[in-house]
Amino acid sequence: SLTAARRETKATCCYCGVGCGVLIETDGAQITAVRGDPDHPANFGRLCTKGSTLALTAQPLLQQQARALVPEMRTERSLPRTATSWDATLDTMAQKFADTIRMHGPDSVGFYISGQLLTEDYYVFNKLAKGLIGTNNVDTNSRLCMSSAVAGYKQTLGADAPPACYEDIDQAGLIFIVGSNMAYAHPILYRRLEDARKNNPQLKVIVADPRRTDTARDADLFLQILPGTDVALFNGMLHLCLWEELTDTAFIDAHTDGFAELKRTVRDYTPKFVADICGISEADLVTAARWFGESPAALSLYCQGLNQSASGTAKNAALINLHLATRQIGKPGAGPFSLTGQPNAMGGREVGGMANLLSAHRDLGNPQHRAEVARLWGIDSVPATPGKTAVDMFEAVRTGQIKLLWIACTNPAQSMPDQKLVREALVNAELVILQEAYATTATAPYADILLPATSWGEKEGTVTNSERRITRIDAAIAGPGEARHDWQIVVDFAQRLEKLLDRGTNLFAYDSAESIWNEHRESTRGRDLDITGLSYAMLSEQGPQQWPFPTGALTGKKRLYEDGIFPTASGRANFVNTPYKPVAEPIDARFPFRLNTGRLRDQWHGMSRTGTVAQLFSHATEPAIVMAQADMDRRLLSGGDMVHVTSRRGSQIFPVQAGDDMRAGQAFIGMHWGEEYVSGRGHGGEGAHGVNALTSPALDPSSKQPELKHAAIKILKA
Ligand code: SF4
Repeated sequence: SLTAARRETKATCCYCGVGCGVLIETDGAQITAVRGDPDHPANFGRLCTKGSTLALTAQPLLQQQARALVPEMRTERSLPRTATSWDATLDTMAQKFADTIRMHGPDSVGFYISGQLLTEDYYVFNKLAKGLIGTNNVDTNSRLCMSSAVAGYKQTLGADAPPACYEDIDQAGLIFIVGSNMAYAHPILYRRLEDARKNNPQLKVIVADPRRTDTARDADLFLQILPGTDVALFNGMLHLCLWEELTDTAFIDAHTDGFAELKRTVRDYTPKFVADICGISEADLVTAARWFGESPAALSLYCQGLNQSASGTAKNAALINLHLATRQIGKPGAGPFSLTGQPNAMGGREVGGMANLLSAHRDLGNPQHRAEVARLWGIDSVPATPGKTAVDMFEAVRTGQIKLLWIACTNPAQSMPDQKLVREALVNAELVILQEAYATTATAPYADILLPATSWGEKEGTVTNSERRITRIDAAIAGPGEARHDWQIVVDFAQRLEKLLDRGTNLFAYDSAESIWNEHRESTRGRDLDITGLSYAMLSEQGPQQWPFPTGALTGKKRLYEDGIFPTASGRANFVNTPYKPVAEPIDARFPFRLNTGRLRDQWHGMSRTGTVAQLFSHATEPAIVMAQADMDRRLLSGGDMVHVTSRRGSQIFPVQAGDDMRAGQAFIGMHWGEEYVSGRGHGGEGAHGVNALTSPALDPSSKQPELKHAAIKILKA
């Protein structure tokens, strides 16, 4: 039991999109312990290695060393930043924005924000850009994470809404995991899957992945496909389901459009053709298609292997095609279910916090949606010009089209592909503002203005996890130094800019996170994600809830589309024609290896937080390039040897490691290490920027998500 001074506060883990509930114990001033919330439906008290070490990341000494504590500014690039006051900083920023907007127009400024912000933070950033300034140049690191899943859902089912829920794992007959190492990247959901297998020995698991990951090792059937060949695999499975009459013709006729065209395309995807493209056996392909088509309930779980691709939208759509054709959707245990990468990428999508979206799943390209949002905000209009998406935004900064860049809660100088481009952009920008909790990130040295922000455990607001479940989180302690909440910083700035621009409006009259959320809630009325039946008080009293939850509803919706009605104009789902296209950057004689990147078990993104906990390095102590033993033998390499890894964009040095998870001709590097870790451990040296010095900025044409999962490289002994 807790003593009087000690208290526990409900929040969520700040890492992955499983969205586990946590109870943060404090002594009034400091965080003393963190445990899983036994009442939270995402995790029922469980936490993985990352979640269970959260308290260690909140130690006072660490906070003093790593955190941004006071606003800092510099007057010239060549000078260091010095401490200043909030008022001076915000006044300077507002004046600079007003002058630049007057001189060069609203599209001369840009905002690059984050899937780790809370929904309320996201909402005000979006309103500041699109409502007050009049630019759609607001994009987020969710572009690197979930934008292909968004485009795939919208093109097929009509809305960006994962149709399944965690409970479906318990009820599935077959689980098809594609492009996801769930055991590492979504560990608590994977525990649930392990439990489901124990409780139901009939449950089958198929994993399709270029690497034999820990998730793949547990599968009943593992399809070790070649990188980027997922669309061919799904088309081949659909071809076989058609051939073996495992499709649901009545459902297709009654509830979908576009099947005839897709059918013509998949006719060519014979088992032999697909097996050759994917590098798997015809027999395994046939087994996979039969298990999927014959299962009483097939659930697909997928993540960055589908999304981070120049064919990301097609990969998502081809998998959803397979679900629609076999009616593996809208029933317990079935459906295409994207696992969200970041903790609140979903909340950001809900408020339209991306360059092509508007509040409550509205589309920027839709004039009626723009008019609705303008009405909600009480402004004349929302600009129609499409905003720059992540990679294009940095290119526009590099060329001077965007002059002022405001970055919040993300570290592009590590996490964006093609670091050379990103770093040139940060140098060329007239002004870089960084709103951050940590002063130690690779982006921090580029910032002319550093705004200290509160972080996990210090903030109040809401987040939405992978199964559309909104959790209200409370602040357990105050932020360190002069750190302020992200939404407060935006509102304080916006009120100043509003006066300077002389708009005569009062768009940012918020006095709490709740007042922002209430406005967001109203914007969802009548939309697919209607949450007008929820309130902060209700979320506290009754716990996390799934959307939609309209006024008058008693519960949220576990599962979508059970009635076969889809949120399209016709009410019918669309099959998308998805011919297979190979990866954007083919291998050749100069760059003969395929590089894959991804998460390791105990680290999170750029390690700003997990990198402060010594025990989280015991699983992987340093960055390494993992190769097949046969490739190492051929190149006379032994484990631990240093190699130059070179792509068309840059070169880095890594120690090499043999991995039996790799096929010959392929290599894998964990995404977490940036320059401070690479250089600090004696690897990389001058110009070491981590794995994203090598990755490709090639984009999916619809989602604009970069192909972080594939680059052609060469590997030479250092
Ligand atoms: Fe945190 Fe994800 Fe682990 Fe849950 S599974 S404790 S949300 S990192």
